[in-house]
Amino acid sequence: MTGFFIQPVSQTDPLVAEALTSEKNRQQTQIELIASENIVSRAVLDALGHEMTNKTLEGYPGSRFHGGGHNVDIVEQAAIDRAKELFGADYVNVQPHSGSQANLAVFFTVLKPGDKVLSLDLAAGGHLSHGLRANLSGRWFEAHHYGVDRETGVIDYDEVEKVAEEIRPKLLICGGSAYPREFDFVRMCQIARKVGAFFHVDMAHFAGLVAAGVHPSPLPHADIVTCTTTKTLRGPRGGLIMFRNNENNQEWPRKLQAAVFPGVQGSLHTQVIAAKAVCLGEALQPSFKEYAAQVKANAQTLAKTLIDRGVQIVSGGTDTHIVLLDLSSFNLTGKQVEVALEAAGITCNKNPIPFDSPRPPEWVGVRLGTAAATTRGLKEAEFVELGTIIADLIAATAANTLDEVTPKAQKRARSLCDRFPIYQ
Ligand SMILES: *Cc1c(COP(=O)(O)O)cnc(C)c1O
Repeated sequence: MTGFFIQPVSQTDPLVAEALTSEKNRQQTQIELIASENIVSRAVLDALGHEMTNKTLEGYPGSRFHGGGHNVDIVEQAAIDRAKELFGADYVNVQPHSGSQANLAVFFTVLKPGDKVLSLDLAAGGHLSHGLRANLSGRWFEAHHYGVDRETGVIDYDEVEKVAEEIRPKLLICGGSAYPREFDFVRMCQIARKVGAFFHVDMAHFAGLVAAGVHPSPLPHADIVTCTTTKTLRGPRGGLIMFRNNENNQEWPRKLQAAVFPGVQGSLHTQVIAAKAVCLGEALQPSFKEYAAQVKANAQTLAKTLIDRGVQIVSGGTDTHIVLLDLSSFNLTGKQVEVALEAAGITCNKNPIPFDSPRPPEWVGVRLGTAAATTRGLKEAEFVELGTIIADLIAATAANTLDEVTPKAQKRARSLCDRFPIYQ
């Protein structure tokens, strides 16, 4: 065993070590615009790579199935207390391994197989864990969807109400992964009440904006709220479940505890719980408010820069960190632009836009998000620069002149990376 507790991966496993090094280098030298990504602090990384990962525990602080859990109890309780303070929640569960698991635990708590859910259509920016047929949520529950208005790209709440009255779902879900606008939680809650549905908000994308107070909070309106700790909350990969007490959710704390464990999960990812505590502590700092406000300002700058260059933006702008491009007027697919941007050192993803083709290769959308690049320190001036580079690349893709344009774009993107380094 000589070396087992000492040797770093670079000495023991060249294949993995090389991929890790290349990945770090990729992150340092590319501008990250994938809306579900962020760049976590060194402190979050410390927790994730900690010996705490060796600890197996099931149950909850104060009632565990294994001994030796004292230190994990401390970090789990801290994560719970911090999330309660941050979001003004009465109940918090920090154990879900991911956002999808958090949603599954909610379904497990409030629904029976075959019950109806009503959620945002995937093509209109919804999420696969809200009832996609290929996902367990869509196999075991009867999922129906509402969409957005064809003209405005914004949810048509009258339409939601109409569909809800027809379907009479047991659960009404609000939230998505590519919807750039604020949801009207007040109206959605009214609709849920009217049809006797529970109201669930999945704030995975905008949780960090809510935490910072730069986006309305769903907590006063929803019966239950889930989110990821990745994305705008800038923490480890994982999920949270929370709510503020109301007349509908009085019985849920006990049920939710049992739904997460042993309902849909086994033991905790102990080191991730520690990292969640760290990220929630960071989100309580005044600097996080500044960060989140900058994320929004940067998204608005990016949208405006692109619009000024003739690029269409779904819904005409953004209230969040998400900017969804509609490339149909350039006759381009999302994939073409994704590839062009990546060649220049800017990472993003193709995405469907509302009423898009069901076939991913034909999608005409590209989703951009400002959370990660804002963490690097980029502000409005840099997002004007980024928007300009992106508009140049879109135009060049359409004009078939990428060979000329890419090297210059790459240089400009690289210079932003050099000016705003990470993990040195
Ligand atoms: C990202 C996301 C999730 C899923 O999170 P995972 O951790 O990837 O499982 C769930 N809901 C919404 C709306 C999301 O955007």
